[in-house]
Amino acid sequence: MTVPPTTELDALPAVRTAPAVEESDAIVIGGNLAGLFVAHVLSQLGYSTRLIEKSPRLGGLDSSFTNTNGRTFDHGLHVLDYMRSELVTRTFLHAIDGEVNELVRRRGIVLRDHVLPYDAPADNWPDELRSLLPDRDIVDDIERPTRESIARVYGSEFADFVYDEILASYPSEMRHKELGVDEAELVTNVYPWFFPRATRTGARTTVSRSYHERMRSEPVELMLYPKEGGFGGFADAFRRKLEAQGVEVLCGLDDLAYDIERGSQTVRSIEAADRRFSAPRVYWCAPVGALCGVLGVPMADTKPDWFMLGSFQMEDPVTCDFTELIVGAPEHAISRVSFPGKFSGGPDDLIQVEHAVPRAGEWPLDKDHWRETWLASLSKLGIVGASNAVVDFDFKRFPTLYNCYGVEGVRMPEIELELPPESNLRPVLPTIRSVNLSTRVPQFLEFLALDLAQNGIRS
Ligand SMILES: Cc1cc2nc3c(=O)[nH]c(=O)nc-3n(C[C@H](O)[C@H](O)[C@H](O)COP(=O)(O)OP(=O)(O)OC[C@H]3O[C@@H](n4cnc5c(N)ncnc54)[C@H](O)[C@@H]3O)c2cc1C
Repeated sequence: MTVPPTTELDALPAVRTAPAVEESDAIVIGGNLAGLFVAHVLSQLGYSTRLIEKSPRLGGLDSSFTNTNGRTFDHGLHVLDYMRSELVTRTFLHAIDGEVNELVRRRGIVLRDHVLPYDAPADNWPDELRSLLPDRDIVDDIERPTRESIARVYGSEFADFVYDEILASYPSEMRHKELGVDEAELVTNVYPWFFPRATRTGARTTVSRSYHERMRSEPVELMLYPKEGGFGGFADAFRRKLEAQGVEVLCGLDDLAYDIERGSQTVRSIEAADRRFSAPRVYWCAPVGALCGVLGVPMADTKPDWFMLGSFQMEDPVTCDFTELIVGAPEHAISRVSFPGKFSGGPDDLIQVEHAVPRAGEWPLDKDHWRETWLASLSKLGIVGASNAVVDFDFKRFPTLYNCYGVEGVRMPEIELELPPESNLRPVLPTIRSVNLSTRVPQFLEFLALDLAQNGIRS
């Protein structure tokens, strides 16, 4: 029963006094690696800094989670490439005090029902696949992979295989093809991942292609993975460093109210959880789309895919020597398989399966469908034996642009965000691309260094 108010005064809403403003030199919005890096550098330079993250924990999709038996998984394969960027490797190692496992990357590819090493020469391919290629040494001088240039170098049968099977195994790419994206643009997502080793003389026109060339010329590729806490251990380590440096890290603030001076686009204050913050500089390290929302700037529809993630814990160890498999076979509804047990140094009984599918379409979204579909493929590919039972299965799906246009070198619609020079807002990386950290992190630092050098915060 509702108790009626006894007097008219009782019925008046309580008068809310605005909380006192809490000042700092900088506010960093977004607590994944961009935000963690920026806050880390600012506090190292002596700026008082506050970091605000809307989720209950730091790390975004780079955080990890545990299954019902306490085993750790990531949101898809996440490893730090050793010395792909010296700056990044050293910064991550410093953040985590060297507490990482150093692993040799063993990448495999799946074509039809065959699992073979990435970059195996054609002579080592199974006969069924070898027969698609010409019977001569292959010299790849391709500048731009198109159906014609692939046919010229690898033969028309292999070119058809690339388009009709490998590319077709990526539903998101097929969706883009339907939407009118040039297939020669889409094929850069599978070239040269699924191609046999060849002498390559073509130009290294993109970051991605240079990376492939380097990987192919180096005898081993190393990667780093935290000893504790999955890949998210890096974000956890950054947080400990930040807090030790006096940075206030606030998580779970998903109801931020921005007071923005229209015209100058200056953030006067940010209110959340009964507190009010203000700073002469606000570094935006969350997705740029969210900033468009705050500023009321219209944004093009990016049509993210569904990223499906299956995390299996098996009774017995898996039967696969590779650290990861990329799949170019439409008969397997899988984009990538990885083995988190191998990364953490724990029992090798964990399997992570990823697949990106368009949100528009008849893709089933239920857990049981994907569990059975993926198990059938894992068994057909010989990764789980007939007697190996599932101990635990976790299923997640989330919208992502990762497998959409998110490969370096492929044009994506970018957001043009022009802020007046007097604004205190700094979008640290105004892009919607998701690229490797070794490319991204130096860009965060470059942006910050330029901003501080040219403008300063307290000058
Ligand atoms: C499946 C997958 C696998 C990957 N694997 C690798 C890999 O193996 N190696 C590698 O180097 N890179 C990998 N990447 C890329 C790497 O994860 C990204 O480069 C990195 O996540 C980018 O971090 P970020 O801080 O720029 O942005 P984001 O990840 O976009 O982080 C933004 C943060 O801001 C928060 N936020 C959002 N909106 C708001 C708001 N309004 N207010 C406050 N906070 C907000 C979010 O919760 C999030 O924590 C992978 C990416 C994906 C998706």
